[in-house]
Amino acid sequence: MKNKLFNRLSVGMSLMPLLIGLSFNLQADDNKPFAIAIHGGAGTINEADLSEVQQQAYRDKLQQAIEAGHKILAQGGDSLDAVQAAINVLEDSPLFNAGVGAVYTFDGKHELDASVMDGRNMAAGAVAGVSHIKNPINLARAVMEKSPHVMLYGQGAEEFAISQGMEFVPNQHFDTTHRYNQLIDAKKKIIKSELQDNDYQASVNKLDDNYKFGTVGAVALDKQGNLAAGTSTGGMTAKRFGRIGDAPVIGAGNYAENGTCAISATGHGEFFIRYNVAADICARVKYQQKSIIQAADEVINQRLVEAGGTGGVIAIDAKGNIATPFNTSGMYRATKVGDEPANIMIWRDK
Ligand code: ASP
Repeated sequence: MKNKLFNRLSVGMSLMPLLIGLSFNLQADDNKPFAIAIHGGAGTINEADLSEVQQQAYRDKLQQAIEAGHKILAQGGDSLDAVQAAINVLEDSPLFNAGVGAVYTFDGKHELDASVMDGRNMAAGAVAGVSHIKNPINLARAVMEKSPHVMLYGQGAEEFAISQGMEFVPNQHFDTTHRYNQLIDAKKKIIKSELQDNDYQASVNKLDDNYKFGTVGAVALDKQGNLAAGTSTGGMTAKRFGRIGDAPVIGAGNYAENGTCAISATGHGEFFIRYNVAADICARVKYQQKSIIQAADEVINQRLVEAGGTGGVIAIDAKGNIATPFNTSGMYRATKVGDEPANIMIWRDK
């Protein structure tokens, strides 16, 4: 009898360190930093052009998207899942230039680009010029996880999507009246200036940012310390068919590396590609030990400004510090650190 009791006691005692260890780990996990930032595009966003109701609609959708990502992180989930969940909400909203609400090419179609990167193993996946995939970010993730490749475009990407059971939609699924009106407007301006300088690209470049931007993206740090980034877009209004922007180009519009940072960009893609914006910011953090705030600011507000490239990024580092610099008048964005309330902004100060 005594022996049995002793055995039970000693078994119980030998389990104690384990149990203490377990509760300590759970607690430690609860104290691990986690954070998420999202954007819905940068551009010339004039306050006077957005009614109170429209502003509220943007803010509500940003809130819904960031909460979708936050919920996953708060439960100890993966940064990659959080990024995808947040982007899906924005892709399904006609307010943003990704998924429904994507801009039109010059000839009146939609061609979508997207990419994801997993900072834990530098895995990446991207699709470009897809026109029937409801949520291109999901396909980008499938390219990363289920194919040996990093980037697939056009028909090849869509054939791969069939094999992955992705949701297909007709190209008209992405139609919205406001984007169509933007195309008509843009075409008038392009055709007028084309008569002058006979250069399509120069004419497109002359369009103001309102015609160009609205891409969506998300970056996140999870409780395991993993960083992830995702970007999804319809590209730029009146782009030539076949044009591919920075959103699916790893290192330009999207980048993530554990221990360093994760970036999602929005802006004039041709500049973001040539200036390797997302990777440049992370390189400054990694090799020059700059803070994420300083590194992102240098690239967006110095290097890009000098080059004439407009846009912005959301950036997060390994500790969950967030930077959201942009060199346009506004950028739809939201940040949420741990369980703090989300900070939702359109302009510099509100
Ligand atoms: N960066 C995107 C592109 O050039 C446009 C945007 O950010 O809205 O395709």
